[in-house]
Amino acid sequence: MSALIPGKPAPLVPGVWRVLALNPGMMTGPGTNSYLIGRDSLVLLDPGPADSRHVDNLLAAAEQIGAPIERVLVTHTHRDHSPAAHEVAERLNVTLTGPTAPDDGLQDERWQPDEPVTDGARIDAGGLTLRAIATPGHVDNHFCYLLESERMLFSGDHLIHGSTVVIAPPSGSMSAYIASLYRLLDESMTLMAPGHGELIREPEEYVRHTIAHREKREQKVLDALRAARPPVSAKELVGEVYRDVPAFLHGVATLSLEAHLIKLGEEGLAEAADDGWRAC
Ligand SMILES: [Zn+2]
Repeated sequence: MSALIPGKPAPLVPGVWRVLALNPGMMTGPGTNSYLIGRDSLVLLDPGPADSRHVDNLLAAAEQIGAPIERVLVTHTHRDHSPAAHEVAERLNVTLTGPTAPDDGLQDERWQPDEPVTDGARIDAGGLTLRAIATPGHVDNHFCYLLESERMLFSGDHLIHGSTVVIAPPSGSMSAYIASLYRLLDESMTLMAPGHGELIREPEEYVRHTIAHREKREQKVLDALRAARPPVSAKELVGEVYRDVPAFLHGVATLSLEAHLIKLGEEGLAEAADDGWRAC
């Protein structure tokens, strides 16, 4: 397996290279994975944060591979995934392809696709084919892309290596997220290339494990809600529900907990009270 070394193109399978951005952190793990995909020309998938050093590395990688970048494609428009597209587009003649950005204050607001992507769209990557799969949940404009020849899924932030992803309402939805996980089980996949972390070698097992993990967490939310004196907020429940998670992560965990409460509300198991939630 290729190590995650920032800046250097790492060949993964024929026609796919990963270039790790220089943005490691609590929310990004080792950093954002940008991918170069294609044979005679390249698609740049998730160009990464606005960082000229990373753009330099991406352009140098394409030079080294010996094929031009003709398209920038994004899984979603969070600021660690799409903003480098703007500098790439200033320096190269590329087509920007991807979803439009929701207006929730968390997005790359400059992002405007030349070609908006739709579910099931087939995108040419220099002789290879990527198929778009709508996977709302982490955010409502999220897409995964399946490289059909290798059955390799570029999973963006729908599934990342080594951690669960944050689902922040209102643009994030837990019910949509879990439905999108189930949807992936209809695809035959042999490899998953996430937006953060290493390649995932057993994608189907990873998806099933993630579903089970989320359902177990949801049960904990429901148990804690039933045990609490209502109304109770996500913030008041987080210490109990995420007892297995270090306290410094409880701030972001509160967002996903709120997403679980909204899902329970949709299912009639919880209801929003004045300043919190109660079990039904
Ligand atoms: Zn994201």
